[in-house]
Amino acid sequence: MHRNIRFIIADRVANADITEWLSETAVRIVDGKINDVLTASSLPSDVDETSEVLRLGDVSLLPGLVDAHCHMHCSATKDAQALALAEKNDIQRLTMRAVSAMRKAVLAGTTTVRDIGSRNEVAFPIKQAIKDGAIPGPRLLVAGTPITITAGHCWFFGSQADTADEVAKAVRNQIRQGADAIKIMSTGGMFTPTANPRLPQYPAETLAVAVREAARSGITVAAHCLSAAGVKNCVEANVHNLIHARWYSQDPSKGLEFDLETAKRMSDQGQWVDPTIGHGILGEEATARGEAPPRAVHWSVAGSDVDNVAHYETLNRMHDLGVRFTNGLDMGMPHGTHDRSAANAWSVVEKLGWDTWSALRMATADTAEALGVNDEVGSITSGKVADLAAFDGDPAANIRDLDRASTVIQKGEVIKLRGVGLV
Ligand SMILES: [Zn+2]
Repeated sequence: MHRNIRFIIADRVANADITEWLSETAVRIVDGKINDVLTASSLPSDVDETSEVLRLGDVSLLPGLVDAHCHMHCSATKDAQALALAEKNDIQRLTMRAVSAMRKAVLAGTTTVRDIGSRNEVAFPIKQAIKDGAIPGPRLLVAGTPITITAGHCWFFGSQADTADEVAKAVRNQIRQGADAIKIMSTGGMFTPTANPRLPQYPAETLAVAVREAARSGITVAAHCLSAAGVKNCVEANVHNLIHARWYSQDPSKGLEFDLETAKRMSDQGQWVDPTIGHGILGEEATARGEAPPRAVHWSVAGSDVDNVAHYETLNRMHDLGVRFTNGLDMGMPHGTHDRSAANAWSVVEKLGWDTWSALRMATADTAEALGVNDEVGSITSGKVADLAAFDGDPAANIRDLDRASTVIQKGEVIKLRGVGLV
């Protein structure tokens, strides 16, 4: 028997474009890579003697999920945001929490994760430990500490840089440590009292410096932006990935200020948006269980906050203009536990009205493309790494089934089998 040749057979296997199921299909894996996708009935009759064959039966096999928005050492408890500030120097505690979070993520079928905001002292060693096989976890891309202004959003785990020169140096410092992407806070944020989310933290020219310095090393910039002015700056600077992309007015007495020209340009430039509405659903679930807040809302927003439906509307407007979305839970923030990335796909179906296959593509191939790893992962096609997840039920019929990863395969190795974690 060739132990390096393995067949995974399932009743439903996503086709190469992730637009429909192939029925009773076998995925041939050789040395950790997908080698072929063929109908189960075409396998030779002695296949069980010559290879390892895993017959999963009534499950739906997808490429492993890809999540582009993680904070590996944040607790995901209802007080996660306050803890992030209180525990900023407790590196050992943060590291142990991150180890546990990364195992949870991969066992939920999320086999590729981009972390965009965790302490350097945690993020880079965790990435290395996963690579070394010392701990279980997804294929990991990391930004390390986010870049923010002094006392700016997430300053307590960020690199504080105010001027264009300081930002350039902060970006290069992240690159020296091994960053796969740069995270920068273009506006303030909801849970940092000293950082008003309605106001830009950096002018467009400074964001453009970050983009330029990142590009020098072939990496991209993801920018947190909660206000119309911040979104405009991110579009002006052509950052690769807008995180949140909310349109709050600078005026604290007003709601949103969507700008069509800015959104059109965002689409023309091929900028990706991370809508971050999945963890809202998890917050709703927590509320239903009677354990919702505290989730911080900034003083500048509290007086004239807008309901979620208004945000959904601006997200739909961007999407209708052709802006593409990445899959990002904001793992680690309140109620966004690291094993619930599927909630993103639920949210675009249930809140934005997408069809389920579009949501499944967002959760896999699209986000792999946004992260520049689509040569390696994101679809079940020959030549790609055999990172696969089998879900009970049928997520194309019921998107909530995407939360039911029962078997997970990473680089061809089975790490979870029929609901039991093996790592
Ligand atoms: Zn975040």
